[in-house]
Amino acid sequence: MPVTQHVPDFQDALRRFGFTEFRPGQRDALESLFTHRRLLLVAPTGGGKSLTYQLPSLLLPGTTLVISPLISLMENQADALQARGIAATYLANTLPEAEARARLSGLREGRYRVAYVAPERLPFPGFRDLTRSLDCPLIAVDEAHCISQWGHDFRPDYLQIGSFLRSLPATMVLACTATATPVVRDDIIAQLGLGPDTPQIVRGFARPNLALRATQVASLAEGRGIVDDTIDEALGGPGERRGAVILYCMTRKDSEREAERQRARGWNAEAYHAGRSGADRTDVQSRFARGALQVVAATTAFGMGIDRPDVRAVIHLSPSSSIEAYYQEVGRAGRDGEDAIGQMVFMTADMPRRRNLIEHGRAENGAAAEVVEHQWGQFLELIRWAEGGSCRHDAILRYFGDEAETLHGCGRCDNCLRLASGGRAEIDGGERDEIVKKVLAAVSLVDGRLGLKATVKLLRGEPDDRLERAGLSRRPAFGCLSRYEEGWISRVVQRCITAGWADIARGEYPLLGITPQGRAVLSGKRPAGLVLPALEEPGRAAPRSATRGRARTDARVGRGEAGRGEAPGEIAAASEPLFAALRGWRLEQARSEGVPAFVVASDRTLRDIAATRPRTVAELLDCYGIGAQKAERYGAAIVDLVARSPGRTG
Ligand code: ADP
Ligand code: ZN
Repeated sequence: MPVTQHVPDFQDALRRFGFTEFRPGQRDALESLFTHRRLLLVAPTGGGKSLTYQLPSLLLPGTTLVISPLISLMENQADALQARGIAATYLANTLPEAEARARLSGLREGRYRVAYVAPERLPFPGFRDLTRSLDCPLIAVDEAHCISQWGHDFRPDYLQIGSFLRSLPATMVLACTATATPVVRDDIIAQLGLGPDTPQIVRGFARPNLALRATQVASLAEGRGIVDDTIDEALGGPGERRGAVILYCMTRKDSEREAERQRARGWNAEAYHAGRSGADRTDVQSRFARGALQVVAATTAFGMGIDRPDVRAVIHLSPSSSIEAYYQEVGRAGRDGEDAIGQMVFMTADMPRRRNLIEHGRAENGAAAEVVEHQWGQFLELIRWAEGGSCRHDAILRYFGDEAETLHGCGRCDNCLRLASGGRAEIDGGERDEIVKKVLAAVSLVDGRLGLKATVKLLRGEPDDRLERAGLSRRPAFGCLSRYEEGWISRVVQRCITAGWADIARGEYPLLGITPQGRAVLSGKRPAGLVLPALEEPGRAAPRSATRGRARTDARVGRGEAGRGEAPGEIAAASEPLFAALRGWRLEQARSEGVPAFVVASDRTLRDIAATRPRTVAELLDCYGIGAQKAERYGAAIVDLVARSPGRTG
């Protein structure tokens, strides 16, 4: 593949768009595209990605094709280009037949510089013949994450794009997306058939004006207290008209109840969810956009196309489905660049709730078991982030791979503030490890027979029929942590789950089980490196303390904790090269097997390998997500990669 190409002068073309200078990253992206003829560009919505395919269309002969799933967006962009004197059109099934025919013949005659195409066009042999006869120098794939089953918005139509691109081998290809984790990025490249050397540029995810906070609560009442405090903090009093708040809830009922509660507190508040009529939803949206509503309590259905700039807080009463979804939602705050708050509230009960929701979705749409596991893994990543003790902002950027923009402490998230005020060590290291082992021992006793609540009762030594029947109330483990509070113990169990040592099994009821890694910790083969949650402060039982959300201490700040206690993506810089090498290997492997990258290994698995550097296949078995089958299949290759990668010794 030719790698050194003529890179044209972009400045003149930029003026055609009415812009005087490039935004950060745009020129890099263009140069990379012209040099390598392939590029995956990851930047948030509104980041200016479309310029990276629109501008080349002025410099290249023929018609640039843009594949996009969003008809309204295609229409807007085609109109905007036309308004700048750049011939553009779009093709979608919604067009009247005569209009579609006219556009196709215009395309055939080469009358357009840019043509937007919906993916469902691609399979038609007629359309393929047409594009082959066209002079088509560049194909852009917008919303490219839709090609990955592991992304949050899989569209089967997108799978056609790979073979479409293969039928036009000489064409430059630009894939754009606003959200993609490393595994989804690698999957996009594999599905598009672009080759592992395709450059990936990740830019513009930093949102330093957001004060991110995640608070674990013991009850819904406590969570609501934080919601109320945060709304008051963000908006001032109901009379002050300082902007708006979006409050995300897990269910329709929750959003109705919250809207009601906020109305009672004096705010103009409405509920928004898929259960309301179309007219009601439009009404809520337009009142929100006009500034007539201050609080919208919504399910995730609310948000597409919301760009009110003065959203002063996005609050989650329960966690989103993944870090990607969360960041997209919280990103609706502070679009005007002014200070805004992102507050997430979560509790242990959210875990079985989410598990049920995922299982339910599976039952409904018949998704594969591995999709369910993937979704669960994505949720756990979010909880790991929420539990994490380091800068929230930086942890998210590392998760997305946007290293260039990390701040090494944003100075305004809850963890940065806590770090600045000095963390407290309540439980020393030896005692901490003992507690973790006791919890894991209890989990291994109930293993797959009972759920989270029963396990906590076992540790607390509370009488319970189920424990009695299972013969567990006579075991030494019964009551071994009786001096700790129920809520605190369940937080420790939760952290064992997010660390990958315990798991919630699918089934009619969510049951708790121990994983191979958990057994390794229990037997002392692996360190029990886990940051424990803060012990309750005496006298802090009331759900609404006088303190503002910011001042609550929910998670002990953990520094220098190795391995499993870390927030996602928080791998030491030293393991980055190995993580990158492992991703390269995964991409090759996925291509040769013809499977998605995730089927070979998840990001979490690769991160774990990069952090622990297993020297033998037996050691590899202790890594997250590695079972006997994977160890046999890939063990030798992985161990070899680790050995060849420079890094920690011993
Ligand atoms: P994305 O495709 O990444 O969601 P867009 O390409 O739609 O984002 O860009 C968002 C907005 O930024 C658009 O209104 C666009 O006109 C504007 N924009 C893009 N590049 C520049 C630039 N270099 N200077 C000024 N405005 C720009
Ligand atoms: Zn921070």
